Amino acid sequence: MDHSEQHRLGAAPYYAEQAGEVALFEHAFGQRLPLLIKGPTGCGKTRFVEHMAARLGRPLITVSCHDDLSAADLVGRHLIGASGTVWADGPLTRAVRSGAICYLDEVVEARKDTTVVLHPLADDRRVLPIERTGEQLAAAPGFMLVISYNPGYQNLLKSLKPSTRQRFVALTFSYPEAAVEQAILQAEAGVAAPLAARLVRLAQALRRLTDHDLEETVSTRLLVMAARLAASGVALPVACRAAIVDALTDDLDTAAALDEVVRAVL
Ligand code: ADP
Repeated sequence: MDHSEQHRLGAAPYYAEQAGEVALFEHAFGQRLPLLIKGPTGCGKTRFVEHMAARLGRPLITVSCHDDLSAADLVGRHLIGASGTVWADGPLTRAVRSGAICYLDEVVEARKDTTVVLHPLADDRRVLPIERTGEQLAAAPGFMLVISYNPGYQNLLKSLKPSTRQRFVALTFSYPEAAVEQAILQAEAGVAAPLAARLVRLAQALRRLTDHDLEETVSTRLLVMAARLAASGVALPVACRAAIVDALTDDLDTAAALDEVVRAVL
């Protein structure tokens, strides 16, 4: 099944820059270099790629990788139809043919055979070998490969091989600094500056907590959700409980500790 999403974007979606990544992306695109974006979940990786695709006037094909995703899911397969067998391009092949930006989100989740097809695309050759049809598909000029992963989730079984990662220019993202994150909350949730500032202070206090068994800390995405609930009339502590505390943990003791921070900061 094809889980990809295709966007031909009009106006670029709002993106608050963190540290020169917009120019870096433009240079990588200009030089036909593939890009690897590392960073925790909800820190703006996907939004950045959507913004850049629109800015560069390229269609964007996004694939959310999962542990069942195989090379055939990316490249394509023969389908049996009423009039016989027909070849159907997968999302990566469509991007290579049409000169789109292909964004493989959480690429380390995908099955190992997928990296094999990425290698010749990610170096000077810029070709996609389609084994099943024998085609050596040269990438159209506007094609760019962008992959992301979350180093926090990484374990020994799920990491990129050096031979793969050394084909990519890498960008490391983290949560935006306070002023940028506040601007994001104001823009994304339509909240006023004082409320946005309080939520950012809360995020910073929660991010300093290291003694709890949290897999991940509060992301910009969760803050935006809390801000949106608050903007629509939900009381702030309730909004924070639902969008932040309960989203981060199932453990009652941890939730109580996080709640305490919420009460202390808000
Ligand atoms: P990731 O792909 O890193 O998991 P997303 O790009 O989906 O994260 O970001 C989650 C949400 O956070 C976005 O939908 C957006 O509302 C907000 N966001 C995070 N960072 C930014 C940013 N720099 N500019 C604008 N919005 C942002």
